[in-house]
Amino acid sequence: MNKILIIEDEESIADLEKDYLELSGFEVVIAGRGDEGLEEALNEDFDLVILDLMLPGMDGFEICRRIREKKDFPILVVSAKRDDIDKIRGLGLGADDYMTKPFSPSELVARVKAHLARYERLVGAGQKANELIEIRGLKIDKTARRVWVDGEEKSFTTKEFDLLTFLAENPNHVFSKEELFRKVWNMESIGDIATVTVHIKKIREKVEFDTSNPQYIETIWGKGYRFKI
Ligand code: CA
Repeated sequence: MNKILIIEDEESIADLEKDYLELSGFEVVIAGRGDEGLEEALNEDFDLVILDLMLPGMDGFEICRRIREKKDFPILVVSAKRDDIDKIRGLGLGADDYMTKPFSPSELVARVKAHLARYERLVGAGQKANELIEIRGLKIDKTARRVWVDGEEKSFTTKEFDLLTFLAENPNHVFSKEELFRKVWNMESIGDIATVTVHIKKIREKVEFDTSNPQYIETIWGKGYRFKI
């Protein structure tokens, strides 16, 4: 599933964009401040960013420039000010598309789809190799978000995949449930850390030959979990 980041401080606009994108099957995260948005864009795996220009914390010009230093996913700039759009175009900061507010949400969705299709063609053309993690019989394709156990593909929910990948990338390290909850679920998530236990159980059912004697994710009693390598 494609994951989209909306960096927008006007909550009503961000929510409207999110609703339409989710209806089209995208996973959407909203950042209401510029500095937080940049951090998310650089550290999480997004496929596209929708970027407002006037933001608290850091403006969209700076965010666009700094994302482009590190990432090549499409950036779609939205602004209420035509002048700002002309300015960001003129600066050549590497945005892929521009929309003036107000715009129709369906137009936004159409453009998001077009840019993702174009980007996926570029990536699929072999410009980048998929990022793989292979540990014994377990193979995780981080780029395609697919998992194989002894050659057989298994399907994972988004959070199961994120949790398994996080543990596999940090083997031989014990993480408490609280730490895992913070790392894998969004910081703003309000939830029960018992969800970590539930997800570990589901992951084990898919990756372990014998769930009572786990080969990959060990329980360290009173401490948490460790991925065994
Ligand atoms: Ca704004």
